[in-house]
Amino acid sequence: MNETVQALEARHIVSTYRRAPVVFVRGRGVFLYDDEGREYLDLISGVGVASLGHAHPGLADAIADQARTLLHCSNLFYHPLQGRLAERLAVLSGLPRAFFCNSGTEAVETCLKFVRRYWHARGVRDRLDLVALEGSFHGRTYGSLSVTADVHYREPFAPLLPRITFVPPDDPARLAGAVTAATAAVILEPIQGERGVRPLSIAFAQAVNEACARSGALLVADEVQCGLGRTGNPFYFYTLGLKPQLVAVGKALGAGVPVGAAIVHEDVARAVSAGDHGSTYGGNLLACRAALFFLDQLVAGGLLAHVARVGRHLEARLRTLAGRHASIVDVRGAGLMWGIELNVDAAPVVEAALGRGLLVNRTGGTVVRLLPPYVITDAEIDRAIDTLDVVLSEVPAGVSR
Ligand code: PLP
Repeated sequence: MNETVQALEARHIVSTYRRAPVVFVRGRGVFLYDDEGREYLDLISGVGVASLGHAHPGLADAIADQARTLLHCSNLFYHPLQGRLAERLAVLSGLPRAFFCNSGTEAVETCLKFVRRYWHARGVRDRLDLVALEGSFHGRTYGSLSVTADVHYREPFAPLLPRITFVPPDDPARLAGAVTAATAAVILEPIQGERGVRPLSIAFAQAVNEACARSGALLVADEVQCGLGRTGNPFYFYTLGLKPQLVAVGKALGAGVPVGAAIVHEDVARAVSAGDHGSTYGGNLLACRAALFFLDQLVAGGLLAHVARVGRHLEARLRTLAGRHASIVDVRGAGLMWGIELNVDAAPVVEAALGRGLLVNRTGGTVVRLLPPYVITDAEIDRAIDTLDVVLSEVPAGVSR
């Protein structure tokens, strides 16, 4: 790898990331290429972002056309794309209004502020509690971090927001007990991504719906990782039957252009007035154009059906793989979002896969996570699983089954 790149970063970049020693310089479809021309099959897509793969020609044309027309005019004025994008998200989510921002954590932050504003507008000043889930990850800014469970992320930045209760994601009774008349909202990921790709159960989702209906608490679904077609369904809250009033999205929406959104119920939107929230870049023309292109591909372009179909192929191949390796204790997920839980640390597997030109990542310590681009084909899935098969044969299993 190019030592100059590494040396320059070592001198000038704040070291918040542990990078693998590869410099990527270009991409095409599901492939990335490093500075020595080596090809990698990308099953992580920039952590769920490159939904259309890399260097998608249609997206590149749309972005270039927008750059030649107008990139940004601020939220002081109207432009033609923001309303169109919000309308498309409304059709997909069933929630009529959107606020645009630039990342997943900002989308969550927006939801938390809108929850506060909702109760404030009703004159209810003591409904300040939040219920979140153990194992949750919602982002790195203060509000999102406050509802993120992992103590390693939280502890150096305390004190965070008070009055947050974390409940186990598989315990409907504990959830029911935690939601009270003082609960402003419950916040959850329908599939917990950073905890090792763990879908919530339908029984737990029912308990959430019942607790929110009984107490009047709002429900925030963080679909930053699992939403917008990643599972072969527009949103995973549909799959679980959850009834959120607020949905946070990001990642896949811009297909690589930074954009996030809070999509909300009319009652929530009605509580928010001019000046309550804002973002300089939020919903600018570049972001909206990219997101509109992505949604065109997803719905009219048939990509959603493609994800559902190749997702079934990926699941079948993963289940067969699990049968072949004693080190695999579970495979979980849906569509193109999967976790392979091992009985050993996943880091050596991820590293060995990288060495064989396959990008996957580790989450939850022992889980290999797969978040491929939506455009992946059956043949590319086969190639990836065959590589994982070889890698897993080389990595010693922990306790055998
Ligand atoms: N919420 C979930 C469920 C996520 O997976 C992430 C990122 O991984 C975030 C929020 C934060 O998104 P971002 O990194 O774009 O701020």
